[in-house]
Amino acid sequence: MIRFEDVEKSFGDHTVLSDLHFDVAQGERVTLIGPSGSGKTTILRLVMTLEELTGGYIWIEGKPLTHDRRDGKRVRLREKEVAQTRKKIGMVFQHFNLFPNMSVIDNVTEAPVHVLGRSKDEARERGLALLDQVGLKDRADEHPSRLSGGQKQRVAIARALAMDPKILLLDEVTSALDPELVGDVLGVLRDVADSTDISMLIVTHEMQFARDVSHKVMMFDHGQILEQGTPDAILSNPEHERTKRFLTSIL
Ligand code: ADP
Repeated sequence: MIRFEDVEKSFGDHTVLSDLHFDVAQGERVTLIGPSGSGKTTILRLVMTLEELTGGYIWIEGKPLTHDRRDGKRVRLREKEVAQTRKKIGMVFQHFNLFPNMSVIDNVTEAPVHVLGRSKDEARERGLALLDQVGLKDRADEHPSRLSGGQKQRVAIARALAMDPKILLLDEVTSALDPELVGDVLGVLRDVADSTDISMLIVTHEMQFARDVSHKVMMFDHGQILEQGTPDAILSNPEHERTKRFLTSIL
């Protein structure tokens, strides 16, 4: 579903990722862990095309995301081609990023109507079903400002799912929440993981959640994969001292 091949990302002369290779299979859920600044969010933002790839390739279902290899040369795709692939990808952000001037249901239906060309009625019906799934159907016509952080985040999850993504990117989705609101959001995501075969790339400090939902954990340090394996292998029996120190630091 996702292939990183030789990926490099620099900001000016600061190289954040280099020579990065990994694959994510259909339905596979991979959690990225590692110290702050190790490049985890940058990886999600590259997949979402919110950052420009400075070297290498990202393939989505075997198709190039932003750059293709043609006649041995690396070429940037046209924006229209990129947009086609980006439709398959949804992202949920740490700070929700809801549209503040739109009702909850309009937040959820905006992209299905304007990007996928669905009818308003169809998008609303599906949107209400998704809001029901995240426990917020009765708040559909309110504005996000009236919701708690946990509720906003559940709307953001419904909004991402409304696009029927094949890939879901979760960037520290509980980090901005009061501790008592974290459980509801993670519960919704556990349900999504159980009931779909969406591939997920997850950045989180919630190690119990990582253990419960992921097939694989990758430990990053300085933009490189230091070690990877099952949640049990990496979170309970890490090989590297750096991983052990990291896991102790976030307890
Ligand atoms: P993590 O998610 O693991 O904390 P990030 O991917 O956010 O790490 O950041 C990796 C590195 O990239 C950091 O050194 C950060 O300062 C740098 N970085 C991220 N975004 C930008 C940006 N827009 N401009 C310059 N440097 C950036």
